[in-house]
Amino acid sequence: MTPGQPFLCFDADDTLWHNEDAFAEAHRKFAALLADYHAPETVESTLYATEKRNIPIYGYGCKGFTLSALETAVELAGDTMSSREVRALLTICREMLLEPVRLLPGVEETLRHLAARHPLALLTKGDLAHQENKLRASGLMDLFTRHAVISEKDEETYRRMLVLWGVEPSDFVMIGNSIKSDILPVLALGGRAIHIPYPLTWQHERAEVPENHPRFTLLDSMARLPAWVDAYLASAAKR
Ligand SMILES: [Mg+2]
Repeated sequence: MTPGQPFLCFDADDTLWHNEDAFAEAHRKFAALLADYHAPETVESTLYATEKRNIPIYGYGCKGFTLSALETAVELAGDTMSSREVRALLTICREMLLEPVRLLPGVEETLRHLAARHPLALLTKGDLAHQENKLRASGLMDLFTRHAVISEKDEETYRRMLVLWGVEPSDFVMIGNSIKSDILPVLALGGRAIHIPYPLTWQHERAEVPENHPRFTLLDSMARLPAWVDAYLASAAKR
């Protein structure tokens, strides 16, 4: 990589395409499926506790969600659960895996514009096959010079990826919707982080937004990113 040039790295789910709304819908269907056994709030809190406990074992994504949902259903409904209900649960999860990719507004134009000027990377966590399928289906794959699916987005993993990619932390710019996964670890290792919020955030990804951090920027849409990059380059030229 050219030192001093920004290395723009994008998160995928809820940054490039919709994701959390499908999970929210799956949670609603799951609660409806167990409505005869427990109140929706009980189903939701038990499911979240199970998911959280299982993340170190199953990782993030639909398949981990499916196993945790099955575990929750067995815990809450026990032996009274029918095979019809199990099948309905598997259908909810399968539909999420097969859902077409829905790009967020301004993503394609912005990425095409930036890719003609800068190397772009993609860093996402979740199910390997699902993430790769979504990237292929998005039509954006050719715009990234590097991409990786990782199991956790923490400081150590980012550090490892930067070494692998030969990028200095001071040149690294992460763009994403999750404060916990895309912003805080990147600021901690000396990179820049741009938060583009998505209307929904899974409770596991919630964290305090940094206040007055010199390397943190909040943008309300992807379309504003090229202007940020131009301003960054102009200020770098003066330094
Ligand atoms: Mg995301």
